[in-house]
Amino acid sequence: MNFKGFQKISLIDYPGKICAIVFTGGCNFRCHYCHNPELVIDFDNLPDIPEEEILSFMQKRKGLLDGLEITGGEPTILPDLPNFMERVKKLGFLVKLDTNGTNPEVITYVIENSLVDYIAMDIKTTLKRYKEVIRVKIDTSKIKDSVRIIMQAASDGKIDYEFRTTIFPEFFGEDDAKEIGKWLKGASRYILQKPRMEKVLNKKFKPMKFYTDSELINLAQLLPNCIIR
Ligand code: SF4
Repeated sequence: MNFKGFQKISLIDYPGKICAIVFTGGCNFRCHYCHNPELVIDFDNLPDIPEEEILSFMQKRKGLLDGLEITGGEPTILPDLPNFMERVKKLGFLVKLDTNGTNPEVITYVIENSLVDYIAMDIKTTLKRYKEVIRVKIDTSKIKDSVRIIMQAASDGKIDYEFRTTIFPEFFGEDDAKEIGKWLKGASRYILQKPRMEKVLNKKFKPMKFYTDSELINLAQLLPNCIIR
């Protein structure tokens, strides 16, 4: 398996842990505000980083790093992902997986085979509004399934998790927050992420405004165990 990016250390991406991060190329969504557009389109132009290089680095960081985060793009669209996760686990590291939730079968497989310790899943908006954000047609029942699988696995003590939304008023208003609050009732961690606009996938996307901190706090109160970052 090849990767398209590698960050050797992060103190903030895996809650309470020190991790390295690998980035996969390719995604099945086209979110307006995606801040890793080079990993979504034209990623073939980025140099390949072979998995052996990552594993050899991790081997040397035993005792210094707690884990590896796998992010993208969308890692679950790559068939070799579970094999790679198994190799990382065999080295003794925790594995965090970032996903957009479109592949509940892969999520189930990596949970049931103890290949993942923490899952961060995007919640783009309410299910009925997903297409407005991601700009492709998907079966939203897959998103619903992934949420259910992740929450069940956490309640069985198999993984930790977070749901997270990059928030724009266009796609996530008070009514949406109320609906998502009901849908994800009982979730142990929900993160509202402030947008980063330095580079975005859809260059024509100009948000009508950004939420103020007090507006974000009001929205956070409608969501389960929500924090803003
Ligand atoms: S923000 Fe959207 S397009 Fe970008 S990697 Fe995530 S799911 Fe894919």
